[in-house]
Amino acid sequence: MAVTRTSSVPDMVVLSGELWQELLKLVTAQYKVIGPVRRGSEHVFAPVKDPRDIDMAYVTTILPPKKVFHQPFQVLFSFDTEEGTLAEEESGEEKVLWGIHPCDMHAIAILDKVYGIEYPDPYYLRNRENTIIVAKNCTEVGENCFCLSMGTGPALRSGYDLLLTDLGGRYLVEVGTEKGRKLLSGLELVPAPRVVLVEKEKRLSQARQKFKKRMITQGIQELLEENFRHPIWEELMRECLACGSCTMVCPTCFCYNVVDKIDLDLKTGKRQREWDSCMLLEYAQVALGQNFRRDRDARIKQRIYHKLLYYEPQFGTLGCVGCGRCIGACVKRIDITDVVSRLAESVESDR
Ligand code: SF4
Ligand code: SF4
Repeated sequence: MAVTRTSSVPDMVVLSGELWQELLKLVTAQYKVIGPVRRGSEHVFAPVKDPRDIDMAYVTTILPPKKVFHQPFQVLFSFDTEEGTLAEEESGEEKVLWGIHPCDMHAIAILDKVYGIEYPDPYYLRNRENTIIVAKNCTEVGENCFCLSMGTGPALRSGYDLLLTDLGGRYLVEVGTEKGRKLLSGLELVPAPRVVLVEKEKRLSQARQKFKKRMITQGIQELLEENFRHPIWEELMRECLACGSCTMVCPTCFCYNVVDKIDLDLKTGKRQREWDSCMLLEYAQVALGQNFRRDRDARIKQRIYHKLLYYEPQFGTLGCVGCGRCIGACVKRIDITDVVSRLAESVESDR
């Protein structure tokens, strides 16, 4: 049966079967879509040409979708010293980021503050403004997920253009903005009855029961403030390889370095920024070789203190959204929830 088109789009619809497939086809035909696709045993956010490549059942991705806005390598401009010219890189393409989870959406909200308030970053903001976000509530939970403890999942309440919830073979689609509504405007739709929200809450409540990992958040800031010299940091120094993987996969890490890449003609080149990591030895190195965080315990402590203590006064929220990627990426299985639990337990046993 062919789907006819109309411009009136309700705030809430349920799509299944042909209509769901039609939505995917329409969106991928009209926009550059970046969505979760399978790569071996993992998932990544990648450009999607064929809607059948989107795997809506993914639990997490190797890198977070922040890479769309804050790219691992971003050319800022090209230069030609002979001509004395600079050419700024433009990226005005409108795109759709499909199927992102609540934890990653919360992380993007943090990056919006980092890159949007005190020192507005035109590169990030341009990418952000040109992207329509289709988020997806989590009804399945990964072994390392702990967003429930951080208040960042499994349900999303704001920040999306469209929000999807898997109701089992059909999707509840909620409109968040007019940009989101536009994605649905090619379909003939009927409003979903409000009773469907009961089914949605039931699914989310079932998801909440599935979490195995938790983070102690009550009193976490006092715990960290009072234990800056705790022996656990030396223990972690012996475990940690300072490889930086934990920061590379983190959706809230935002540090970068700026480098000039000179071509072989020594006249032309480009300036680009690249993700950087506070876990790497060179990160805190300054002129004359002085390094403020030469020891690994100082670096791992910085990562954890930044996420769980220093973000709050700066951005009004903790800097960890509980995605669990750093746990999965660490070859030494250093687990941020475990570090906090061990700290809390040792303080408790000293009382
Ligand atoms: S991934 Fe693990 S080993 Fe590597 S820097 Fe992070 S905590 Fe250390
Ligand atoms: S610190 Fe780890 S769990 Fe928290 S947001 Fe970053 S990668 Fe995710």
